[in-house]
Amino acid sequence: MSAKMKKILIEASGCHVHLTQTAIETLFGKGAQLKKRRDLSQPGEFLSEQRLKLVTKDGVIDHVAVLGPARSAVQVELSMTDCRKLGLKAPVNLSGDLSGASDVILVGTHGEMKATGSVIVARNHIHMRPEDAEEYGVSDGQKVRVLVQSDRKVIFEDVPIRVKSSFMPAMHIDFDEANACGYRVGTEAFILYDDPETCAPECHPDMGQMVRQVVETVTDVLRREGWQQPCRKAQAPEQVQPVCAGTDRPCRPATGALPAFCAPAVDLSALGEAPAYKPKSKPASAYIPEYMKATAAVCPAPVIDMKLVTEKAALDLVRSTEEKTICFARGSIITPAAKDVFKNHKKTIKIV
Ligand SMILES: [Zn+2]
Repeated sequence: MSAKMKKILIEASGCHVHLTQTAIETLFGKGAQLKKRRDLSQPGEFLSEQRLKLVTKDGVIDHVAVLGPARSAVQVELSMTDCRKLGLKAPVNLSGDLSGASDVILVGTHGEMKATGSVIVARNHIHMRPEDAEEYGVSDGQKVRVLVQSDRKVIFEDVPIRVKSSFMPAMHIDFDEANACGYRVGTEAFILYDDPETCAPECHPDMGQMVRQVVETVTDVLRREGWQQPCRKAQAPEQVQPVCAGTDRPCRPATGALPAFCAPAVDLSALGEAPAYKPKSKPASAYIPEYMKATAAVCPAPVIDMKLVTEKAALDLVRSTEEKTICFARGSIITPAAKDVFKNHKKTIKIV
């Protein structure tokens, strides 16, 4: 078996009821006790001889098993299919958690009672003793993934581990889950491990390789963008040849469109020291696109992109600029009145 999974016994339980002593006497008569039919896998737990009827306004489920011993609260554990039969909406809770639990009427041989806040759909879970938890490398409350190996393989996610010294290691599922995963007595189930300690190597990518790939990609982008690894002057005064940072290799002179760049671009063995990249400074004009340079040549003032230049707009413009020439973007419409304003203020208009 692979190290990344560990076998666990799996057991399926049908719908059943846990009762308080008071409820036992209400349903089966004064002084009644649960009569053991057989022990269950968890020590002390047993299936009783007694059976109950569950009743709601929408349906009835007969011959429901009563488990012993008596508990401090009545708890009815149904599958979702059972809930549909009874028209109930019950929460999926761990056994013992009755928050949001639904109501049902219990009918026994000697009486009946309304079990308020008692119906849950039992959340699947794994029982373990502390020593088993240690062996499986899990802890109380931890959630694990469990693969059921059957003709109808299923992986159950978020299965909580419950640790108690009286437990025996076993996973418990209900009949809906048992049917969904093709469960039969003897079906094998395995806890799956994502922990790198126990997981097979193929589960985990090589982080070193991933970092190297990222560095190579970034270096490539930087090189194409014209960034440069800083060169330093050699320590010895007689050596004036600039060398690559952190090495004694001389800098490669610029070739073609590529700027001067240390060869090799990045020394991958020195990943610990991030190379201090500095942008190669360019004159600001280098960032002005060609078409704008052409505009700048013919028009010293900023080009005004205005669809319609009215008389009022023209007045605002002449008051706000000292320029002799006012440039408008191609497509601007200048009204005759606006043209007069520019003329009167001795401004030349250019459409660029
Ligand atoms: Zn259980």
